[in-house]
Amino acid sequence: MSRVFNFNPGPGTLPEAVLEQARDEMLDYAGTGMSVMEISHRSPQFEALLNQASADLRELLSIPGNYRVLFVQGGASLQFAMAPMNLRPAGASADYILTGAWARAAVKEAEKLGHVRAIGSTEKDNFKRLPEAAELEFDPNAAYLHFTSNETIQGLEWAAEPLGPEHVPLVCDASSNIASKPIDVSKYAMIYAGAQKNLGPSGVTLIIIRDDLLATIPPRLPVMLDYRALAESNSLHNTPPGFAIYMVGLVLSWLKANGGVEGSARRNAEKAALVYNAIDGSGGFYRGHAQPQSRSRMNVTFRLPSEELEKKFVKQAEAQRLIGLKGHRSVGGLRASLYNAFPVEGARALAQFMAEFQRVNG
Ligand code: PMP
Repeated sequence: MSRVFNFNPGPGTLPEAVLEQARDEMLDYAGTGMSVMEISHRSPQFEALLNQASADLRELLSIPGNYRVLFVQGGASLQFAMAPMNLRPAGASADYILTGAWARAAVKEAEKLGHVRAIGSTEKDNFKRLPEAAELEFDPNAAYLHFTSNETIQGLEWAAEPLGPEHVPLVCDASSNIASKPIDVSKYAMIYAGAQKNLGPSGVTLIIIRDDLLATIPPRLPVMLDYRALAESNSLHNTPPGFAIYMVGLVLSWLKANGGVEGSARRNAEKAALVYNAIDGSGGFYRGHAQPQSRSRMNVTFRLPSEELEKKFVKQAEAQRLIGLKGHRSVGGLRASLYNAFPVEGARALAQFMAEFQRVNG
């Protein structure tokens, strides 16, 4: 067996130690004589692992006591619809900061169900940067303000939360940078994230929601689309994605054992610096898509002098076991995703490969 350096944008690489533990526990989870996939979601063993995962996320992100942690299905894409269904009363409007492909996807869903204002769009700059504070014209009556903390496709990341009107709840799609650095959860009303990039496999989505928002949810929402109902059942209204939640639990323990989100932040900064330095030191052979002030630590997007060279780069990188570097078709070029579990040696290997590729082809 030999593992590659997996730069895939999601599902992404998982910690080897986590995969090994899952393998070791596969046939007999916690002395049950069953795999975790075979036990009842009403069993004490499952409830314990769900509550432990929730407690570990709370500890890692210092989530205050007045927030609930939920595990749901449907991906972050379902949250594009659920957030407006739950948090935007009939007739009200919500503000969405339009920073790239995923913010746009969120706007599209929210528009089907009610009024949205897309603000601060940087589309005319081809989403190469995030908006400046002065470009954001907030609606003081908005039901909430939504932003995408990391644009996975364009490779843009907010260094700090946008500061909207104080009383407008802040809602964040953190799918591609959750638990990658410390954040002040008390600034947010709700955070949601598909697990499959920074926290585990696909199949489960994490929601962190402030208690008081649960009280104003419209009545008569279908139960699986109702945050209050999901909170009341502790994410156990129906059969949850047990194996995915178990894997998230293992990743959270791994993060705790590896310096918490501070440790993640240190490693993530080191990895991103290795690749951005390779771009910046190339004399223009490699060109970053994102402007430097908006660069993502999670997804490094860049171009080469021609599409032909880009194809060659991907192919030769694969031969050196650097996998998943092809960029999204809407941006083109290359994308190196460097999520929490991606090792520093992988970023170093990519930087070396980039230098060598330029030496031969530059
Ligand atoms: N938001 C962001 C920022 C994403 O990167 C993605 C997935 N790439 C999504 C939402 C959609 O997530 P899912 O596939 O879990 O619906």
